[in-house]
Amino acid sequence: LKHKAEHDNLTGLINREAFCKIKEVLSSIDESVAYLIVDIDFFKHVNDDFGHPTGDLVLKKVAEILKEQFRSTDYIIRTGGDEFVVVMTKFSSENDAKAKIKEKVKNINEILKSGPDNLPIVTVSVGVAFSENGYNDSLESKADIALYNVKGNRRCGVSFYED
Ligand code: GH3
Ligand code: MG
Repeated sequence: LKHKAEHDNLTGLINREAFCKIKEVLSSIDESVAYLIVDIDFFKHVNDDFGHPTGDLVLKKVAEILKEQFRSTDYIIRTGGDEFVVVMTKFSSENDAKAKIKEKVKNINEILKSGPDNLPIVTVSVGVAFSENGYNDSLESKADIALYNVKGNRRCGVSFYED
């Protein structure tokens, strides 16, 4: 019951409710945190053109790829609809984390484009913000601004929030 309450039914990822508790814990740590918002590009078209059940399969596939690409110590959350959040901790430097994130986003989009399954091809856009001392609520709006940059630009890529 506890697992069910804390995880998303469709993807098995941490759900929004459980994420609130995780945020509280991460607020009190004194470590660097990377906050990533991952949003599927033009996901509405998938539902419109192929139907909602196919859309669900695409969401599950994206969730699986996120689990593969990030470490088991990273938090991967389905915050709602076609939007996911990844919170990374325990990295050596912001520059190192940026390089890793760029590589992961590239991998994710390559895997999504090369799938041997018969699912419609999608890509993801990712907005990232950093904090040097744990989670704080401004990370969310900063990552959202970064995501907005990718969406307004070319989609299928990553952008880092700069002060
Ligand atoms: P953008 O590139 O700007 O993100 O475009 P988009 O089409 O992805 O934009 P938007 O965020 O408006 O669309 C998200 C869609 O996700 C709308 C909604 O119908 C669909 N959706 C939300 N939850 C689910 C779900 O659980 N299953 C399925 N199949 N679709 C869902
Ligand atoms: Mg979307």
